[in-house]
Amino acid sequence: MTHPQSDLAIHGGLKAVTTEITNIFEWPIITHEDENAVLAVLRRGAMSGTDETIKFEEEFASWQGTQYALACNNGTAALQSALYGCGISVGDEIICPSITYWASALPVFALGASVVFADIDPFTLCIDPKDIEHRISANTRAIVVVHYFGHPADMDNIMAIANRHKLKVIEDVSHAHGGLYKGRKLGTIGDVAGMSMMSGKSFAIGEGGMLTTNCREIYERALAFGHYERFNETITSPELSPYRNLPLGGYKYRMHQLSSVVGRVQLKYYDARVAEIRRAMNFFWDELIDVPGLHAHRVNEEGYNTMAGWYMPHGLYTPSELGGLSVTRFAEAVRAEGSHCTPGTNKPLHLHPLLTEADVYGHDRPTRIAHASRNLIREQGSLPVAEQISTLTFGIPWFKKFDHGIISEHAKAFRKVAAQHKSLLDADPGNPIALTNWTSVNSD
Ligand SMILES: *Cc1c(COP(=O)(O)O)cnc(C)c1O
Repeated sequence: MTHPQSDLAIHGGLKAVTTEITNIFEWPIITHEDENAVLAVLRRGAMSGTDETIKFEEEFASWQGTQYALACNNGTAALQSALYGCGISVGDEIICPSITYWASALPVFALGASVVFADIDPFTLCIDPKDIEHRISANTRAIVVVHYFGHPADMDNIMAIANRHKLKVIEDVSHAHGGLYKGRKLGTIGDVAGMSMMSGKSFAIGEGGMLTTNCREIYERALAFGHYERFNETITSPELSPYRNLPLGGYKYRMHQLSSVVGRVQLKYYDARVAEIRRAMNFFWDELIDVPGLHAHRVNEEGYNTMAGWYMPHGLYTPSELGGLSVTRFAEAVRAEGSHCTPGTNKPLHLHPLLTEADVYGHDRPTRIAHASRNLIREQGSLPVAEQISTLTFGIPWFKKFDHGIISEHAKAFRKVAAQHKSLLDADPGNPIALTNWTSVNSD
């Protein structure tokens, strides 16, 4: 289909991206060193052991700058162990942003606690500190913070609220391993951190997760919860000691050692590899400064903040600067140019039926409020930013290598579409009702 005033690829023009696919998007970077480490564990049949895992924990704790690190079989298990470690139990409430992957919130179900969702800030895409305090009740025990798409949450204001109300802060660092907030490593500011290390994340080792903390009590409770074989004399707490050798939670959260050895190798190169990602991603956005409608979701690194691995990078979309063009149509035109662009973020959790009506365990009421002393379920319209944000955000290419020429071509695709947005308005069907879903942000 051609268009009189447009040379956009979607109208039959030449594509902005002409370089054939290179390894610029390849992740994780796997070398012979990773392969040999995995083979060595396989050959000695040590897949279910803990020797490599314990070395990985020590190395990770030292890199993270915390006293303790506990490896788990996935990030979900690490987050649930963090919640249990903080003492979250029946009738308690936690506050969590509605825009996140489900594992930031759902592990409280099995602990008998309830989740209260808060809105997000439209620029950081992280929990909005201004939307926390009025949601605190006598039963609130913790705030779960997610450094969404690598962007550090507003920790100073969040910690001030937590200290005022004596709440624990659990950082979900699944998107932001190694990122800095005012020079401090993400995951070391709250009481405990839980993070995923599954293959799609910026710190990617296979299925795996990590809990880090400086608090001995949280560490011991987390270990006793899902690591029966390590729940032994090393656990000193008098409350836990009588139950040694069996997991308190009835869960088994041991990390697979093929994951731990990959983690040990990946950790050696992680800082250097994400430094290159930062250079590449910042260059991409520098190329797009002053383009109307498209705004970077990034931090000013001069303030000692970083996005570390830039997990699933996104941009902020302002349709009013592009004649009202929908992000759906915009993204379609960018993809036609040969680049990567998808509308939206995760869908808001507070609207999913699992969080409004499902009775999972037979309490004869929604599991979300099975033990709650008030009805916490809120409807459409209750978290306005979270409910709109998918129409105001777009995924961008996640460059792992700094290549000036290739990144410029991709930036050109975005600039070209924004410049010719008027030619896209006629055939713009608008955003569909189901723009994204809860479990995957359709990145590349
Ligand atoms: C991926 C992810 C998790 C869960 O980690 P798994 O390793 O997949 O269990 C938790 N929180 C967030 C924000 C995530 O993106």
